[in-house]
Amino acid sequence: MASVSLFQKYRSQKFEDLIGQEVVVRTLKNSLASGRMANVYLFCGPRGTGKTSTARILAKALNCEGTADNPHSGPTAEPCCQCSACRSIAEGSCLDVLEIDAASNTQVDKIREFIVDKVQFAPAQVRYKVYIIDEVHKLSDSSFNALLKTLEEPPKHVVFILATTDPEKIPATIISRCQRYNFQRFTLQQTVDHIKNIAAKENVQIDDLAAELIARSSEGSMRDALVTLEQAMFFCCQQGDNQQISGEDVRGLLGLAGAEAIQNLVSGFIAQDAGQVLNLLNELINKGRNLNKLAAELLEYLRQMMLVCVKAADQEALGVTDNYFQELVKRSQLVKLGTILNWIGSISELQRRLSGSQNARLVWETVLIQLTAPLAGTDESSLLARIEALEAEVSALKMLTSSYSVQPSIAQAKSANGNAVAKASAVEVQASSLEHSSISVVNSVPVAVADSGFVKPNVGKVVKNTQPLAPNVATTSSGAASGEGQIDDLGWGTTTKVSASPSATKVEVESKSAAVTKTSALPSQNETKNKQGSAGKFWQKLLAYLEDKKPSIFALVRGTKCLSARQGVIVIKFESDRQDDYEAASKERTNIENVLTEAMQRPIQIDLRLGKVATINPQDEYMHTVNLVLNSFAGQTLSKYANGSASDPTTRV
Ligand SMILES: [Zn+2]
Repeated sequence: MASVSLFQKYRSQKFEDLIGQEVVVRTLKNSLASGRMANVYLFCGPRGTGKTSTARILAKALNCEGTADNPHSGPTAEPCCQCSACRSIAEGSCLDVLEIDAASNTQVDKIREFIVDKVQFAPAQVRYKVYIIDEVHKLSDSSFNALLKTLEEPPKHVVFILATTDPEKIPATIISRCQRYNFQRFTLQQTVDHIKNIAAKENVQIDDLAAELIARSSEGSMRDALVTLEQAMFFCCQQGDNQQISGEDVRGLLGLAGAEAIQNLVSGFIAQDAGQVLNLLNELINKGRNLNKLAAELLEYLRQMMLVCVKAADQEALGVTDNYFQELVKRSQLVKLGTILNWIGSISELQRRLSGSQNARLVWETVLIQLTAPLAGTDESSLLARIEALEAEVSALKMLTSSYSVQPSIAQAKSANGNAVAKASAVEVQASSLEHSSISVVNSVPVAVADSGFVKPNVGKVVKNTQPLAPNVATTSSGAASGEGQIDDLGWGTTTKVSASPSATKVEVESKSAAVTKTSALPSQNETKNKQGSAGKFWQKLLAYLEDKKPSIFALVRGTKCLSARQGVIVIKFESDRQDDYEAASKERTNIENVLTEAMQRPIQIDLRLGKVATINPQDEYMHTVNLVLNSFAGQTLSKYANGSASDPTTRV
């Protein structure tokens, strides 16, 4: 192995060797060629992007004497690298080109000693004295002040090149004296190409995955990439052997879990399989993978899933392989955006906890269990998952209840359970439409539990409004069977919300009564439309839009009803006699979603449903709902969610 590092060995010696900094190179070469050089240059950019290499090339270009056939009397756009000036600068032996590391020379005395006191002397060997000050932002305030006087009126024979990774920390008075150049991070492809290029020069075979893993770990710093490549060469290659670096070698060297392990982990999240993810974690730990890097890898994968989910990035933008992208899309389609965001929140939190923890394994295991068995936890994200599960169940129940009317006899059966239940079921009995019976299903459950001091108070308010409404529901129910649900946050049309105050409810009740007296028992088509929920109005508008703009899509969904439109998901119901249409629309689901997404200018998912005749005994159904709510919350609640039970955080029912 060579005694100099790969980075030094392959450091760019000419402007044309520099990769990835085209703007900087072109500007510098033009100013050199035209002879309009600055006295003070400021090179800004992340570490390992070639600032110091460029500074040395600039020093050579300023001082190059040229070859015998092509001598230069002044600066040149490209140094010859052969003359004594070029060679002495490259070797670091030129007395007039000084590199100063500001990080270790922060005090004002050093700046005076190296720069301020000596700047007046003419160069001894070459044309220009060049001061390259690395990490210049590390200088103290007094050092900057001492330097400022020199920078304001530098002697003609002096050029300063200030390099920094953090220009924000440099005083504005200094920056205003400088000609500023911004260096870019290297792209993944540039780094991969450079790694392969250098490996070839070193007679080392490196496979694509290995080069990519090294490039990714370097995060755009070529120096870091070459240091890792050198480590990999030490790690894998014995001198004289067939020198080869594989992706698996690099993964082991860097302690990376790898795409396959991350994909399996995410699959475990989707399947909610705690056993699978814990086994995977165990395997990775046994292989000696770095648990901090695992969090970073997982987070990056979830970020990509999120971008794919909202269609904000394609394969090219993500810079990934075909196979990887297909796997990514497959997983993104299996979960909702909210779930991905939830996972990202949990893993970010995990990353934070890892930094302060002695037991990384335990931290990981806890989070993996929380993510794969959310019903076990009592933190906010677990409660959210439980509420989501409930919402799905309730939504399914609404579908069922739309197909039958509850028999009055149940009211008597339930009144034994207590007064509150009797009141709530009275509403249930009198309502025969989907809209009102579903309200009663939702509300009657909390009422049943309210007597146990279990539910937060505002649930009670909703119920209060239901009671005065009940008699009128009975009288209007024949006409109000619109079968339309609720809408929120889709931003289309007007969203009417029922006011929580009893007086407002009264007004609504009166208007409903008036409508009944004015019209016949069966309201006209127009009347029915007016009574539809806001989701219905919204859907009618959307259907009209489709009929106008996208007739082919309209043909698929015409005559359907909208059960709900919430959080980007529109639930669309086909009547039970339209199975063929339902199946045709299901096949075209993605197309319909795309058209709706375009129309709404936000991601829309649709949930297609076919109306069915229910065969479930209504009383069983009612008890099922009660049990569902109780089970979902394991019969307990937290003090922050309960009213007046702060002293007893886990009130058991
Ligand atoms: Zn030269």
